[in-house]
Amino acid sequence: MFEGVETIWQDGEFVDFEDAQVHVLTHALHYGTGVFEGVRCYDTDDGPAIFRWEEHLDRLYESAKVYDIEIPYTPEELTEATVELIRREGLESCYIRPIAFYGYGPLGLNPSESPVETAIGVWPWGAYLGEEALEEGIDTAISSWRKHASSQIPTSAKTTGAYVNSVLASLEAKGNDYGEAIVLNKEGNVAEGPGENIFLVRDGEIYTTGLAESILDGITRRSVITLAEDLGYTVHDDATISRGELYAADELFFTGTAAEVTPIRSVDDNEIGAGTKGPVTDEIQTRFFDILEEPPEQYDDWFKYV
Ligand code: PMP
Repeated sequence: MFEGVETIWQDGEFVDFEDAQVHVLTHALHYGTGVFEGVRCYDTDDGPAIFRWEEHLDRLYESAKVYDIEIPYTPEELTEATVELIRREGLESCYIRPIAFYGYGPLGLNPSESPVETAIGVWPWGAYLGEEALEEGIDTAISSWRKHASSQIPTSAKTTGAYVNSVLASLEAKGNDYGEAIVLNKEGNVAEGPGENIFLVRDGEIYTTGLAESILDGITRRSVITLAEDLGYTVHDDATISRGELYAADELFFTGTAAEVTPIRSVDDNEIGAGTKGPVTDEIQTRFFDILEEPPEQYDDWFKYV
């Protein structure tokens, strides 16, 4: 995955890939006390551009706030570092992973004596769920693991430790030969994928699970809501979706920075719609990839050019 990556930005400096190390007694390694982002830079007709960078940075600082992590760099400094890193790596398109975490310090649960360490890595990353999934759709299964509620671990924050829930769901799905999991919340309604939000199409209208359903407020989710509305669709963005409604959907698709817009062709071996990418999903996915290739003026502020 990281073949050819030469440089990492770590604590204010560009360091060689091999030298980007942390101590084994790092607080975040033991307790998951880090916050991170996943962002993509696309090779647009106007050059490499980071998709919705501002929104990702905002979410990073908001996540940090929840855990009292004071990122010792300004958003401007992280922006400069990221842009410089992409330029140094000579990448046209890439995935960007900024992370801030409680570093090497006392290992008590209270992290306040540990320094906050910050790093950014960039690398080429193709279709997260595979090229075939983008075209044909992916087979999914409802996870037997439930998503934690925000009263247990805030789901609006992108915290490293919280991802053990996603890891369990992914392990189970892959172990049973499914492409991805769908995770229900503690009420038994649909929350999201391990690293994706979920959308449902019924009778020509679009539904996505609301923020109260224990989901991450996905930036691709927000973008797709806007794109769908601009295409003339009615979008219900605070839906409660039951397992049965999933099975009976006309179409389903995932959204996420890594997953982009990936159709879901089956859930628990039940074919969704015609068992392939549906027409609404196709229209939205096409629009999504079109604007990433050729950003229209209308969405100009979604792009930060490198
Ligand atoms: N839910 C979870 C749990 C995720 O990890 C992600 C990926 N960040 C998403 C949804 C999608 O969010 P975004 O579109 O901002 O990548």
